[in-house]
Amino acid sequence: MVKIFIDPGHGGSDSGAVGNGLQEKNITLMIAQQIRNILQNEYEGVEIRMSRNGDSTVSLAARTNAANNWNADFFLSIHVNAGGGTGFESYIFPGVGAPTSTYQNEIHEEVIAETRFNNRGKKSANFHVLRETIMPALLTENGFIDTAIDANQLKDSNFITKIARGHVNGLESAFSLQKKQTQSPIYRVQIGAFKVKENAEKTASQASEKGFDTAVLFRDNLFKVQIGAFSNRNNAERLAQRAREAGFNAFITS
Ligand SMILES: [Zn+2]
Repeated sequence: MVKIFIDPGHGGSDSGAVGNGLQEKNITLMIAQQIRNILQNEYEGVEIRMSRNGDSTVSLAARTNAANNWNADFFLSIHVNAGGGTGFESYIFPGVGAPTSTYQNEIHEEVIAETRFNNRGKKSANFHVLRETIMPALLTENGFIDTAIDANQLKDSNFITKIARGHVNGLESAFSLQKKQTQSPIYRVQIGAFKVKENAEKTASQASEKGFDTAVLFRDNLFKVQIGAFSNRNNAERLAQRAREAGFNAFITS
């Protein structure tokens, strides 16, 4: 289990940077929530905690204490830049080597690849959340709220998703996260459903005589005559067509 602590910067009485009608605290929360949702929906073996889930005031000490007490494997702090400029930069604590620097490389590159942000480089700084965390920690600055071109992108929910997706892709490489196995549907070709078992068996034997492999399955209080089951829908369609040509009322259920 990989434990990732996500820290949406600012919140509550601390709006963070403001500009172009935007408040940093709202953008950081949207990005963080999307990172969390994508990780929870698409990956297994990953556990998430957030320093805040809503618009609440949380001190820097409370953020790092929460991550330290939880014994997180990684601390990811999300911010939006200000002060003039454009693009993306990321920070680790000065002088820390691998694995923190490796994580920075992977996440930084994936965010750039996904967002096409101007690349301002991988940096280091003596920030509280980087210094006081006992686990590897990264802080990302996602665009400039006071630069119109960046702010316009930050107003677009698809772009927020791209920022989140970039972070997730980086986390996937950094921590070798595994995608959930999605179960593909099974397409069953059925030529009848009967309340009376004998009727189902009669249809099944007619189909057998015409060369179909048949099975009578009791499901949902009906005796169903099945002649095939496929993971590929086209194969199911082909068999259903053959059964129709042989005079059966074939249809596909999944
Ligand atoms: Zn900030």
